[in-house]
Amino acid sequence: MSKYIQAIRGMHDILPERIAIWHRIEEAAREVLAGYGYSEIRTPLVEVTELFKRSIGEVTDIVEKEMYSFADRHGDSLSLRPEGTASCVRAAIEHGLLVQPQRLWYQGPMFRYERPQRGRYRQFHQIGVEAFGLAGPDIDVEVILLTARLWRRLGLDSFRLEINTLGDSAERQVYRERLVDYLQARADQLDADSQRRLSTNPLRILDSKHPETQRLLVDAPSLMDVLGEETRAHFERLRAGLDAAGIDYQINPRLVRGLDYYNRTVFEWITEDLGAQGTVCAGGRYDGLVEQLGGRATPAVGFAMGLERLVEILEQSGFAPERRLDAYLVAVGERAEAAAPALAERLRDALPRLRLQSNGGGGSFKSQFKKADKSGARFALILGDEELERGVIGVKDLRGESGQRELRHEDVAAFLTEML
Ligand code: ATP
Ligand code: MG
Repeated sequence: MSKYIQAIRGMHDILPERIAIWHRIEEAAREVLAGYGYSEIRTPLVEVTELFKRSIGEVTDIVEKEMYSFADRHGDSLSLRPEGTASCVRAAIEHGLLVQPQRLWYQGPMFRYERPQRGRYRQFHQIGVEAFGLAGPDIDVEVILLTARLWRRLGLDSFRLEINTLGDSAERQVYRERLVDYLQARADQLDADSQRRLSTNPLRILDSKHPETQRLLVDAPSLMDVLGEETRAHFERLRAGLDAAGIDYQINPRLVRGLDYYNRTVFEWITEDLGAQGTVCAGGRYDGLVEQLGGRATPAVGFAMGLERLVEILEQSGFAPERRLDAYLVAVGERAEAAAPALAERLRDALPRLRLQSNGGGGSFKSQFKKADKSGARFALILGDEELERGVIGVKDLRGESGQRELRHEDVAAFLTEML
């Protein structure tokens, strides 16, 4: 027999037993985002490769080694999206959404060819937010506050917020030179990746995970020292906004983020509960990106959160999914089985939110009852030929809360309405 085909490494099925936790996060996010006036946008999973090169940056991990790129049948280079911001900006420009401020959000799978490990997959899911057309720090504060509200809504209270400012491009240019001078003199102590980045993308060296490189960075020049008046004021007002809202944070001068388009505010929400992959949400300001992608200069700020990491944390915190079913219909006997579908329909008509599963496929009373119990439903509705004859149905509270009774068909809906 041929070997069965398995899912691609690093790409996972989300099975029914875990879906409730995904729904919980998605629902909470949708509600919170609606509460701040954000609208959902859905863009294709595939874009021309050029879009990501131009936005994320040629010399980034993502573009250099993580993209799923391929030539389509026409020979055009396309890529599975590795993140959502580029597509969002493209769509906003293409459809003229940027003539006024826009608050957008998206959700869905992203694809990166990374080494699969805990919290790091090749297909993973993000919910992200992009706010366009607002230059002030108040909107930076808003996107951070809405993430904080989401954590509260999900009962997650152990996340740590780190913030930093990357300055504007002129300030970063000055800083880049200082940093390169400092590191060049110590190049022999840098890891290989960082040595290479010294000439391509030196700022990225700041978030090297290499212990030796990290040690070297302790005494490196600080970006804070080269920031001008405006950048400082923006950062101070961001801090004041967070303080006023009672949000704790740490300033992490090493926080640079892995994508080239960020400037000024950057932030990450981090947990200690996931091992090495502790960043659950990351974002920042990207005032140059819209223009870089051919639109009119438009300030912007956004973030993305990794849903697999949130799912894992919620699981750890003992998330108990809601009951999946209200009732399970057991039908034993030829006539009862034949009558069951119509009876179930009448109940669903009467109670549009009722979650009722029919046994289907017959079987003895005992085996059907076992399935009813295993289904997790609160009630078993029991229909035999004899009950059918008398126009009644047995109703058993499977969770032992109100015993068993017999009800006339027309009274079942009222009973369930009262009990559920
Ligand atoms: P990291 O430093 O962990 O590689 P990143 O800077 O590449 O993160 P972003 O591009 O900012 O991550 O993505 C935002 C969030 O998406 C991350 O904080 C994380 O929660 C999630 N994420 C990113 N890459 C992956 C992945 N390969 N698998 C699962 N989640 C991911
Ligand atoms: Mg990464």
